[in-house]
Amino acid sequence: MDIELVTIGTELLLGFTIDTNAAELARVLATVGARVVRRTTVGDDPGDIDRAMRDALTRTRFVIATGGLGPTRDDMTKKVVAAIFEAPLELDSGYLEVLRQRFAAMGRVPMPESNRSQAEIPRGATVLPNNWGTAPGLWLEGPPGVAVLLPGVPNEMRKLVEHEVVPRIREKGKGKGETVVRSLTLRTTGIGESSLAAQIGEREDRIQPATLAYLPSVNGVDLRLTVSNLPAEAADTALKRAAAELLPGLRAHYYGDDTTDLAAIVFGLLRDGGHTLAVAESCTGGMLGERITAVPGASAVFRGGVIAYANEVKVASLGVSLALINEHGAVSEPVVRAMATGVSERFGVDTSIAVTGIAGPDGGTAEKPVGTVWLAARVQDREQVMKRRFLGERDEVRARSAQAGLDLLRHMLRQ
Ligand code: AMP
Ligand code: MG
Repeated sequence: MDIELVTIGTELLLGFTIDTNAAELARVLATVGARVVRRTTVGDDPGDIDRAMRDALTRTRFVIATGGLGPTRDDMTKKVVAAIFEAPLELDSGYLEVLRQRFAAMGRVPMPESNRSQAEIPRGATVLPNNWGTAPGLWLEGPPGVAVLLPGVPNEMRKLVEHEVVPRIREKGKGKGETVVRSLTLRTTGIGESSLAAQIGEREDRIQPATLAYLPSVNGVDLRLTVSNLPAEAADTALKRAAAELLPGLRAHYYGDDTTDLAAIVFGLLRDGGHTLAVAESCTGGMLGERITAVPGASAVFRGGVIAYANEVKVASLGVSLALINEHGAVSEPVVRAMATGVSERFGVDTSIAVTGIAGPDGGTAEKPVGTVWLAARVQDREQVMKRRFLGERDEVRARSAQAGLDLLRHMLRQ
């Protein structure tokens, strides 16, 4: 089933309020096989709401709208949509009583006159009771199609979707063979979007009916496979088949599925190998330690770390020689090696990660531009170092460095 969303509110267009309703609706609807095919946002203007709703109904015949159901003058969704369905507004005395009692329970007697309008229901519409606020949802069905009107307040919208909308959509799908929209994400790191695409090459032609999206972020490139309009079991099979097709092309850049954190993967490898870990961090300023300690059970492998930001701390707390720093600079291969060795010895661990780099915006030179980062990982007496040049602003360089440090250790632990 294809659905369009219309989110209503001038605050959304101004960018003061982020349209979380549309994102949330799409995610929930996917679980019951309804695919959001288009989203429209309009301000609190009856002409704009009218056009957006008519256009969406003409295209898709099933529209869910949020916002503009309140008691104030800027809330006009109900009136406009009632006119589209040629359904006159009628006072629902039962719902009026419900509203009165709700206000009485809050000690507000009499109920404000403006709230009376919330008990006016388009003829023939189904009221979706809202026990979490005052504006009920409405389900209109007629020659234009189906229009579901929901309040804009995210929590009320969420509850109404869960309790009133999802069960009705499930019911509608019955008999037609229930279908789902499902995704599987393959997470990669240490490779850019276009290089990844080149590695995947023609494999992408063989993943149907799944579709593939490349989603880059500071942690790497996520590959999201999606299938829709299939029964659940067939969807899962199709996703597995598509993943199996792509995986050989991802090589060791692939580290997990869906929301898996790289730190959790590294933690698992450390625990299974009976290792203990310490970190020596300069430009990441504790991000590596933060990532590792965010994993439940981290104490089984993680001993601690040193934020060796100043050269004096690299010397005093990690035993890096000042001569080495003076000769090669703090961001250099010999120094990152000495940091990894130093932290391993001082913490009595058999694995370590060290990071030193130039996060910017200042401090770059022609030889070592902003984004230059040296990383080292040690596992017992094996050591691997890597120089990277990250793009992006300070926070991005730092986040990418932490991810790269974890990934370097992951590669060593897999060998
Ligand atoms: P309304 O139902 O139009 O009176 O909206 C009530 C409140 O819900 C607004 O003030 C916004 O803070 C919030 N809101 C409305 N639409 C959205 C949306 N699409 N996403 C997130 N919040 C929203
Ligand atoms: Mg509004």
